[in-house]
Amino acid sequence: MSKIEEMLRRGDALMIVDVQNDFCPGGALPIEDGDKVVPILNRWIAAAVARGVPIYASRDWHPVGHVSFNERGGPWPPHCLQDSDGARFHSNLELPDSAVIVTKGVRFDQDQNSAFDQTGIVEQLRKDGIQRLLVGGLAEDVCVLATALDARREGFEVALIADATRPVSTQKGEKARKKMRDSGVHFVRTN
Ligand SMILES: [Zn+2]
Repeated sequence: MSKIEEMLRRGDALMIVDVQNDFCPGGALPIEDGDKVVPILNRWIAAAVARGVPIYASRDWHPVGHVSFNERGGPWPPHCLQDSDGARFHSNLELPDSAVIVTKGVRFDQDQNSAFDQTGIVEQLRKDGIQRLLVGGLAEDVCVLATALDARREGFEVALIADATRPVSTQKGEKARKKMRDSGVHFVRTN
């Protein structure tokens, strides 16, 4: 059994947040080294598949002219437009067909940074008997942070895969880690 497989147990789920082209170098809202999380997450995906641990993958999936875009007074340039290349998962991300896709950011009236925000995922996680979420993806200080904090609020154990996430900025990443630590998120590393 690989080291990663040994870290996984019954009741775990892998939660991969927004590993989409627009958040990687060359995309509409690129995060520095965002694509570097892909090979690391692939190792976790392989281990999860080997251990029968379910995989959830969230995606930002905005309508044209979304309220979170600059043109509407929001904080972000247009990104992850529904059905666009930018909204696709990174082409090297090896998601199995069994991965559960969690779509967010579709509301016209507000943004949804967290994979828990009005997606109904809690019902699904409870149905699947999930107790602990291992979280990685993009961006550490925005959607990963919001997802991890909501998961804690809902009573799940949360382990952030610290080398499988990247922040919008180093400083915000540090703040995000502190917030996560304060809420009881554990940190694991791949190696
Ligand atoms: Zn967005």
